[in-house]
Amino acid sequence: MSDINSDQYQIKEEPYYRSVGNEVEMYQAAYDARMPVMLKGPTGCGKSRFVEYMAYKLNKPLITVACNEDMTASDLVGRFLLDINGTKWQDGPLTVAARIGAICYLDEVVEARQDTTVVIHPLTDHRRELPLEKKGELVKAHPDFQIVISYNPGYQSLMKDLKQSTKQRFGGMDFDYPETEIETEIVQHEGGVDADTAGKLVQIAQRSRNLKGHGLDEGMSTRLLVYAAQLVSKGIDPMSACQMALVTPLTDDPDMRDTLSAAVHLFLMRVGRRERTGAQTKQRAQLMTHVVYRFERVPSQGLSTRAVNPFQSAHTDWYPSVLAVCSAASAYLGGICVRREP
Ligand code: ADP
Repeated sequence: MSDINSDQYQIKEEPYYRSVGNEVEMYQAAYDARMPVMLKGPTGCGKSRFVEYMAYKLNKPLITVACNEDMTASDLVGRFLLDINGTKWQDGPLTVAARIGAICYLDEVVEARQDTTVVIHPLTDHRRELPLEKKGELVKAHPDFQIVISYNPGYQSLMKDLKQSTKQRFGGMDFDYPETEIETEIVQHEGGVDADTAGKLVQIAQRSRNLKGHGLDEGMSTRLLVYAAQLVSKGIDPMSACQMALVTPLTDDPDMRDTLSAAVHLFLMRVGRRERTGAQTKQRAQLMTHVVYRFERVPSQGLSTRAVNPFQSAHTDWYPSVLAVCSAASAYLGGICVRREP
């Protein structure tokens, strides 16, 4: 409609997006076919940033809707509002996007009730239309309109999943936390820290991600790493920054918090062997003991002991008492594998 200012939805500056594979070409091809796209992946791994980047690259307006369980179909489509002159129809974001030819991004769509998500059906097949039943209007989608949804398969449950009839209207793209070098680059760029600090933050996050399902619902996201880096770049000491950005938001369980804090501490104080003083070695050993002790309390899942071991590369220079603790705790202990010493 002519009275909608589509310019407000245009992304003016190129968002920083570090591609991790062929996702840009894939999305471009899907957009050219006006195929609805589903982005799957854990929270804070770059899905929204990717959509912003693609909207900028394609020079299309972007309308983002954060979905939640209280959302109704009217919140998407529109409703009559009362004002002093009587009733007035107000388009919802989906209707606006269909009219102006925007990319409509429904973030965390699985949070919305199923009866809400079905309103997108006629827009996602050959019809490309949106019936506004209350208003008695059939909106034909603008040729540039495209719908994109995101969701985190980790949160899925039987109660909260998309219907097959919804899922099978989308092309799917899997997202995950980027591999080490790329994530380090992102954290460095977004957080304004040096490569060494960014690398340590990524190392910490990778360990926490192994704890998913072993006491944590989710590991530390790239988003949280960026927060931690931003605090460091503002002059906050790295330990406090990690506590605020990485540990506190993730869990309320005091044991798990202690464990994560100890792991953070351990990684942040990781310095070359030659540079380490006796006191540092001892402190490191105490921390190791603490981490191992805490993880021992996470029931072993019988997983391979060859699974990720953050300390493996350093295990030979552990303090002797730590070796003793480690051999006693030999198992896959919730993400930290402790190698059995002979
Ligand atoms: P999601 O939508 O998956 O929850 P976001 O797109 O909001 O996550 O990503 C969170 C933050 O992580 C972004 O604001 C950005 O700083 C950073 N980020 C993650 N992946 C990338 C990437 N590939 N390129 C650039 N920044 C990224």
